[in-house]
Amino acid sequence: MIPYGRQHIDQADIDAVTAVLTSDFLTQGPVVPAFEQAVAKVVSANYAVAMNSATSALHVACLALGLDKDDYLWTTPNTFVASANCALYCGASVDFVDIDANSLNISIDVLANKLVEAEKTGKLPKIVVAVDFAGRPCDWPALRRLADQYGFFLIDDASHAIGADYNGQMLGGAAWADITIFSFHPVKIITTAEGGMALTNSETLANKLRLLRSHGITRDPAWLEQPDTGLWYYEQQALGYNYRMTDIQAALGLSQLAHLAEWIARRRQLAHQYQTQLAELPLILPSFDSFAHSAWHLYVVQLDTEKTSLSRRIVFDALRAANIGVNVHYIPVYWQPYYRQLGFERGLCPNAENYYQRAISIPMYSGLSDEDQSKVVNRLATILSA
Ligand SMILES: *Cc1c(COP(=O)(O)O)cnc(C)c1O
Repeated sequence: MIPYGRQHIDQADIDAVTAVLTSDFLTQGPVVPAFEQAVAKVVSANYAVAMNSATSALHVACLALGLDKDDYLWTTPNTFVASANCALYCGASVDFVDIDANSLNISIDVLANKLVEAEKTGKLPKIVVAVDFAGRPCDWPALRRLADQYGFFLIDDASHAIGADYNGQMLGGAAWADITIFSFHPVKIITTAEGGMALTNSETLANKLRLLRSHGITRDPAWLEQPDTGLWYYEQQALGYNYRMTDIQAALGLSQLAHLAEWIARRRQLAHQYQTQLAELPLILPSFDSFAHSAWHLYVVQLDTEKTSLSRRIVFDALRAANIGVNVHYIPVYWQPYYRQLGFERGLCPNAENYYQRAISIPMYSGLSDEDQSKVVNRLATILSA
């Protein structure tokens, strides 16, 4: 099976993990801060807070930004459910903004219009979560302008996009989003098995994120509200969670991070090769931005329904039957039964729905060989010529 995505583990990763296993600290030791500082440095962010998943990081990011039960969070429907669930964890309401059919990211036009309407009814969002789908940066300067104009916070769900840049500025470090989230799940660009991170340039937000990641507890003398009664003393100051990353995971992450530039370069090369090799097939291929460089977490093709009558299901099943591990990203979030029961109906975001019905994610990972890539291309050509 050639999977659609997979991790890349070498002996250095194994040695890094083993070293932590025989050290004094399996968790809450020195490797988590080392990993945080290393990621912050790579993307030029001031602060990084590692967590046990991107989902946890999204939850805590919403709490740190003050999302509450009377608030609204808006996001894109073309994402993993976690980008929306974080609002519901906080008791807030969620709504969806359609995508741009070309970039597959949140549509700036649809967002701008929706904001005009929401202002009239007093239902402006407190947070907008924008997702750099497949690793391709959103139009961050435009999002920032709208955030400043309407006074909402921006979370960049960059789970697909560590290593991507917009005009040379790495996502996570650039100041467009208030908080940026990375995921280190094995299918993502670098992995800690499970794991995520929240990055920000705000010291206040970083302190809140750290507090909430660990039960709302602090031992920092500078922070204590009551007199320090001894070395054992700590205070719980907020209702937090145990969302900590272990040092075992952080060691893997740190070791993986050393390959980031090389792996992104390989993903970009694979994307360019697909672009040439698939050009003649009845497919809509991803487009490239001149100003932004995708991290290419995914390579998604869409069936060009004007040029082929084959259904997505037929093409998808034929690829799977040929041991090519294709996938689909994403079913519009509000099509999920849980969201339908909240009152969302089909038709809400036509671009996301049209896109979803034609999309197939084909293999894309740094360890994909040219030879295996050719197998994917040839098989697709055979299937589509039937
Ligand atoms: C993977 C992913 C998440 C969740 O990441 P976890 O680390 O598995 O919690 C959130 N948002 C997007 C867009 C993702 O792709």
